[in-house]
Amino acid sequence: MGYIMWRMSDTSTEPRRIVIVGGIGGGMSCAARARRLDEHAQIIVLERGDHASVATCGLPYHVSGEIRDPAALEVQTPETLHASLRLDVRVGHEAIALDPAARVLTVRSTTGTEAIAYDALVLSPGALPVRPPLPGIDSPRVRTLRTIEDAERIRADVTAGARRAVVLGGGFIGLEVAEALRARGLEVTLVELADHVLPTLEPELAARVTREMTRLGIVVRAGTAATSIAHRPDIDAVILADGTALPADVVVVSVGVRPDTAVFEAAGVACERGAIVVDAHGRTSVPGIWAVGDAVLTIDAVTGIAAPVPLAGPANRAGRLVADDILRPALARPLPAALGTTVVRMGSLTVARTGADHARLTARGIEHHTIHLHPNDHAGYFPGASAIHLVVHFRVGDGLLLGAQAVGAAGVDKRIDVLATAIRAGMGVADLIDLDLAYSPPYGQAKDAVNLGGMLGEDVLTGSVTLWYPGDLEHVVASSLMIDVRSPAEFATGHVAGARNIPHTELRDRIEEIATAAAGRPVRLMCASGFRSHLAHRVLAQHGFDSATLSGGLITLVDAHGPDGGRLLVTDRLSRAAA
Ligand code: FAD
Repeated sequence: MGYIMWRMSDTSTEPRRIVIVGGIGGGMSCAARARRLDEHAQIIVLERGDHASVATCGLPYHVSGEIRDPAALEVQTPETLHASLRLDVRVGHEAIALDPAARVLTVRSTTGTEAIAYDALVLSPGALPVRPPLPGIDSPRVRTLRTIEDAERIRADVTAGARRAVVLGGGFIGLEVAEALRARGLEVTLVELADHVLPTLEPELAARVTREMTRLGIVVRAGTAATSIAHRPDIDAVILADGTALPADVVVVSVGVRPDTAVFEAAGVACERGAIVVDAHGRTSVPGIWAVGDAVLTIDAVTGIAAPVPLAGPANRAGRLVADDILRPALARPLPAALGTTVVRMGSLTVARTGADHARLTARGIEHHTIHLHPNDHAGYFPGASAIHLVVHFRVGDGLLLGAQAVGAAGVDKRIDVLATAIRAGMGVADLIDLDLAYSPPYGQAKDAVNLGGMLGEDVLTGSVTLWYPGDLEHVVASSLMIDVRSPAEFATGHVAGARNIPHTELRDRIEEIATAAAGRPVRLMCASGFRSHLAHRVLAQHGFDSATLSGGLITLVDAHGPDGGRLLVTDRLSRAAA
């Protein structure tokens, strides 16, 4: 690349200056790697805040009190970083202007303004919480959470007697804050504009998260906009679009972040919608300047969509790769495209995802199959087994894995990490069958949840299983013979209106009856989880029926259509039976 003006070889002893803006995720990772590669470089880290190397991701757990001592969140100090890595970390130093032609930053601190020249500049300024332009947003009761000081302010609100909290935004940070404040005993309402919390989670999985939040005592108001905040001396009120007023001693705004790049964009560093444009090695449009982390545009590995991915893992890894590109470019590996793998705790549930979701795949016109399954996290006969509610997307035709999500009480993070690895490796869904995963009864099953996903996926790809989905319900009711293959006792607890009950064990003896009842219509099968109806489907398909089995069974159907089951379900007791 012609615009890279300066490189330093591993063997150079001439001191050069690497300046890094941002002393947390990407910035500090870059600084540490740079020192390991070059003992002689002068490495200056400029951090606007009062702390460097803060564990931002731990902030919600400081609010909850699980991490009591804020010092625990300051993983390193300028002193320890100097001692171990000879880094020159300057907290309270803000880059306020950049002259790329002269390679000089203007930096402000309490002692005044100074010019700092650089040979290589790395920008890792992160992102700022979005403050939506609502009337009343400047109320003194409104908080955001990005720094240790922010967390201390929210803790101080609680200590001062706050009883009611409203959290605006149901992304993963909003959920963590809501959980934390509820754990501190506050009445918490979470407001989310999208139809459900965690908008990139499949709605049928998000329903489980909402139920868990309700169980914890958090009120969820999804599909609703906050329109203003009314400030009064005693208490604020968050006003919703439907006119509801939610009293709040504290309002935490968590509706997303925007790249903190104004200084650099003004200096000519190319940005799109405020995010710095970088090439595969993190190089910006300006010679000698690299950028990483929440502030940069990242290409989504599955959809190709360019957007910031505000996650700590990618930022930390990118910092390291950029140091490589600066100091030993011949060996530097490119930054990988993003999978957006995330995990969040909500009460007793773990919620995780990787790759693309159904909505994005559809929007990008990527034809895909989706499977739902509910395997146990470990052997069912070993005490304490619980279901992992797993969704996997893969490409029509070749089965390339595109995305996976899961919710459950145990084992969710492990499965999603395996699936993230598989997606990164470019594996197809059937390859999951062959993964040799650790197993003993307390930990897994001889056919692990991930293996089972591969088996079902392969069956769908090869046509030995045909699925129908909760979204097809109305059409299926109108046009098909529905057979519920659970036991009569299960059927009696609730079922889809119009479904016949023929237990899968009786199916082979009642083929004639089914043919007569179907009268040429398709047969659509269902059971609790999709397992027995899969068996039934194989029987009927081999008898020549146009048969399909409900993906994820009634568990997924109830999750998709809500706890009351919608008008097509005979009784809401079904939701309890299927759960
Ligand atoms: P940051 O880590 O934000 O660092 C940027 C630093 O640059 C800031 O300290 C800022 O003060 C400084 N800075 C900005 N401009 C200037 C300037 N002009 N001069 C000097 N300094 C400047 N991600 C996960 O993957 N998992 C999680 O569980 C998770 N939890 C989170 C919880 C919370 C509450 C928050 C806020 C974020 C969480 N994240 C999580 C996201 C993660 O923290 C970020 O993706 C990551 O920190 C990004 O690293 P970065 O280097 O881009 O930015």
